[in-house]
Amino acid sequence: MPAFAAMFAQPAGSPIRELFPYLSQPGMISLAGGYPSPSLFDAEGLALAATQAMSSGPQALQYCATEGLPALREALAAQTRERGMQASAEQLLVTTGSQQAFDLLVRVLIEPGDTVLVEVPAYPATLQALRLAQARILPVPMDEHGLQTDALAELLRDLPLAQRPKLLYTVPNFSNPRGTLLAAQRREALVQLASSHGFWVVEDDPYGELCFDAADGSTPPMPTALRTLGDRLGAAVNPVVYLSSLSKTVAPALRVGWMLADGELLRRCTIAKQTVDLCTSPLAQMVSACYLQSGRYPATVQRARAEYQRRMQALVQGIASQLDGLVHCTPPAGGMFVWATFAQSIDPQALFDAAVSRQVLYVPGKAFFPESAQVHAMRLSFAAPEVPQIEQAVQRLAQAVAQVRR
Ligand code: PMP
Repeated sequence: MPAFAAMFAQPAGSPIRELFPYLSQPGMISLAGGYPSPSLFDAEGLALAATQAMSSGPQALQYCATEGLPALREALAAQTRERGMQASAEQLLVTTGSQQAFDLLVRVLIEPGDTVLVEVPAYPATLQALRLAQARILPVPMDEHGLQTDALAELLRDLPLAQRPKLLYTVPNFSNPRGTLLAAQRREALVQLASSHGFWVVEDDPYGELCFDAADGSTPPMPTALRTLGDRLGAAVNPVVYLSSLSKTVAPALRVGWMLADGELLRRCTIAKQTVDLCTSPLAQMVSACYLQSGRYPATVQRARAEYQRRMQALVQGIASQLDGLVHCTPPAGGMFVWATFAQSIDPQALFDAAVSRQVLYVPGKAFFPESAQVHAMRLSFAAPEVPQIEQAVQRLAQAVAQVRR
């Protein structure tokens, strides 16, 4: 048999997808996947949109332009403007999930050995895409206010010229896995650093709309997008590329994401996409466009925000009452994830094995770091299980912790 390409000779699969076999074990409660809650899918609204898409003429069944269907690009541009950014349909590429958008950027920008800055802990699929591209991954630490821009500035100062970074990847809103919201001053600092050091910033934002209400019941204002700050630089090219997705708010099965970027970069990503899939499924695009035009989207998002907040509170309160002093987490202000750290005296692998044997699943912290190391943390997703299941999962986790502390 002819040899595989070097990067696929000994490939490591996605650490999250490798947990799938555990999921099928009867009675397992999963806090592992970043899956939206099935009870929040607006199946009725999507069925109406699907019927409308099918009766809209042959467009939905034909190939379309790689950039995307005009109706969807318009709807997504309007959506992006509502998030405070300047966006026109022409500046926007429809992608097959936002996952594809990042992959296209890597194809277009990264050569083997190029330096890429990544906030850590990081979304594993980003690390995987960069590894396969043979990028040199430079981790930038985070704290509870997101990526640490002071540490980034220092890192950049000490970097030899030959290792100047091409791009930086961040999830500023309710990051995966830490759940953090990037502080306002850090947003400014990050965009300034990108401008002065000449690297692209990939602002990956699938969770921004899933923000939780404040303690007084008010909805916090949407944080300023890095892309908007990039526009304010007034430079010829905005260094920020904005990515988002309908996966977390409408349905991941649509596989509809989008990229907002300046012309030259967008054009190259479009060319890269031509060889990947010609175009994102026009049927899925038409259903998405009809759904967004139907006016049901805001209520769907509102329902998700309220329900995820309830589930997050159940998880965080459960941890506080049953794992006090042993497992620590900061309640996130939105999104789908709680990052929980645990005592150094607890062995991460032993805890994972004990948790699985007690039928509760989470993603071990090491999945989110570029180098394999002992990480005394785990990502707990509260999005898919209902509140009673979350409560049961925390009880099981507490038993697992008690078992391995002995
Ligand atoms: N970025 C982040 C941070 C994510 O968590 C995910 C999904 N887990 C994606 C991108 C990809 O989402 P999709 O391709 O479904 O749009």
